[in-house]
Amino acid sequence: MTTPALSPDDGLRAIDVLTVATVADVTPSVRRVVLSGTPAAVAAAGPTVNLLVPRVGDTAPRWPRVAKDGRIVWPDGAHGVSLRSYTARRQDPVAAQVEIDFVLHGDGPAAAWAAAASPGALLGVAGSGALGERAAAQLLLAGDETALPAISRILAAAPATCRGVALLEVAGAAEEQPLTAPEGLVVRWLHRGDTPPGESSLLADAVAALDPPDGDDVFAWVAAESAAVRAIRADLRGRWGLSRAQHHAIGYWRRGRAMSPAD
Ligand SMILES: Cc1cc2nc3c(=O)[nH]c(=O)nc-3n(C[C@H](O)[C@H](O)[C@H](O)COP(=O)(O)OP(=O)(O)OC[C@H]3O[C@@H](n4cnc5c(N)ncnc54)[C@H](O)[C@@H]3O)c2cc1C
Repeated sequence: MTTPALSPDDGLRAIDVLTVATVADVTPSVRRVVLSGTPAAVAAAGPTVNLLVPRVGDTAPRWPRVAKDGRIVWPDGAHGVSLRSYTARRQDPVAAQVEIDFVLHGDGPAAAWAAAASPGALLGVAGSGALGERAAAQLLLAGDETALPAISRILAAAPATCRGVALLEVAGAAEEQPLTAPEGLVVRWLHRGDTPPGESSLLADAVAALDPPDGDDVFAWVAAESAAVRAIRADLRGRWGLSRAQHHAIGYWRRGRAMSPAD
């Protein structure tokens, strides 16, 4: 049985396509890509965003389209476009630009696309979501390089009275980035050194070494490699006694496995 060809009246809409404006390496392993689009497309591209990543060098990708219920409808046959989750570090609908930091981890269509990205390259957007943060008097933030864009947004939006700690795992000092944080929120960088990403227990150990804060107005936001997040989530639910509403702990990537938003 063949799938009928898509026609203009089939209820499907085109995806938003953004164009690379600039590319800059902010650290040895993080590449910042600034993308231009219509103000509406930029406003809709975050804070978390489902990216449609073309194969490196594909200047005319066969994009999917989007159904009324948000479902992505892929074209028949080979298309080479991959769906991946990222974070808009900054959205500026007035300048019609969105900024995304890609970890250049080597393998993977998104990392490869970012490593090769240059002005004029195209990137598709197929939906967006929330960061999952919540305002609280005391915050625990924990993440690796992939979570830095989200954590920088959360820190920048946190009220000046907020207290707590942000634990940030990176390879070394060269991977640290300037962050704006409330005075009472301590930012601690954890260096895993030569241990490959996803193989260190540094982040989970650092959370395990913290005493749970006093009081109920506590929120924890955690994103990193899935196994590290699992360990931290168990600690927060057990020893810290946090309810589901008091924490958001999500695996942002999985060691040894490709990861699209559908996984
Ligand atoms: C809501 C959300 C927001 C995210 N925001 C960002 C963001 O702003 N910036 C960002 O860089 N990432 C972000 N991520 C993580 C990103 O989606 C994953 O790293 C994704 O796997 C990258 O896709 P890929 O095509 O490069 O690699 P994939 O094809 O998914 O994976 C290929 C291989 O690379 C490995 N791999 C994947 N990521 C890493 C990594 N970071 N370090 C080492 N090995 C890795 C996998 O284990 C696999 O073996 C986010 C994830 C989620 C769920």
